[in-house]
Amino acid sequence: MEITVAKDAGYCFGVRDAVKLAFEAAEEYGNVYMLGDVVHNERVVENLADAGAKVVDSLDEIPDGAPVLFRAHGTATEVWDQARGKNIRIIDATCPLVQDIHDEVRRTSEDGRQVIIIGDHGHDEVVGIASQARTPIVVATPDEARQLRKMKRAAVVSQSTQMIENVQAIINVLMTKVYDLHFVNTICFPTKRNHEQIKRLAAESDLMIVIGSFTSANSKRLTQLAGERNADTYQVTGKDALKPEWFDGVNKIGISAGASTPDELIAEVRAGIEEICAELVV
Ligand code: SF4
Repeated sequence: MEITVAKDAGYCFGVRDAVKLAFEAAEEYGNVYMLGDVVHNERVVENLADAGAKVVDSLDEIPDGAPVLFRAHGTATEVWDQARGKNIRIIDATCPLVQDIHDEVRRTSEDGRQVIIIGDHGHDEVVGIASQARTPIVVATPDEARQLRKMKRAAVVSQSTQMIENVQAIINVLMTKVYDLHFVNTICFPTKRNHEQIKRLAAESDLMIVIGSFTSANSKRLTQLAGERNADTYQVTGKDALKPEWFDGVNKIGISAGASTPDELIAEVRAGIEEICAELVV
């Protein structure tokens, strides 16, 4: 039995830095506030809550002088403006690659182009990107792109974790709709790398395990990419979800994990698979 863990499985650098900053802030100030979970992973959220992190719905719930952490996937302009007007300590964990998307969108919007964002409706990163433009349009699928009116000048960016296949399909439609189309490929390089690795690994393995929360869009996309290449693909949130029958007669096992999955969870699931396989051999 051979187990291969995708080289860059798990935390991307943006999430790793944000989680680290959250723990450091909780330690330094005794607590830290966040507008939503720092990552879509139950284990990390629980550990952070134990360390003193508090999730709030609005900045108004944060006491005077307390620290608030702005998460890796960026924060809407209105929230920044509101926070600056309050007596709270802002800890900015925005990933620099998300910041680049914000800057690009602001520039092109000021240049008078219609901004089109390829991304998931309502996702916090997309909301933050959209807040940089005057009248942004969010498109999640080629079908939605087909509903758009014809336009003269538009600039297109994508949410950092989109699949290249979806972006390409949408761009193909937009080319029939927009006369002067400016496209910047803002899928971030950790996402590109993870997607390429899982496509290869899924094709080479007898069985694929993707570790990640079902609340993580990023983990679900990895599962989709693996599932398209290997019907024996399972997404699990931890080792307790592994089923021994999946591993019966299997030789090559591939493992990957979403950008919000911590290293220790990957190690635990790997150990769980080794245990199951050892019992099957006996
Ligand atoms: S997925 Fe990419 S853009 Fe998003 S936080 Fe991670 S590195 Fe940054």
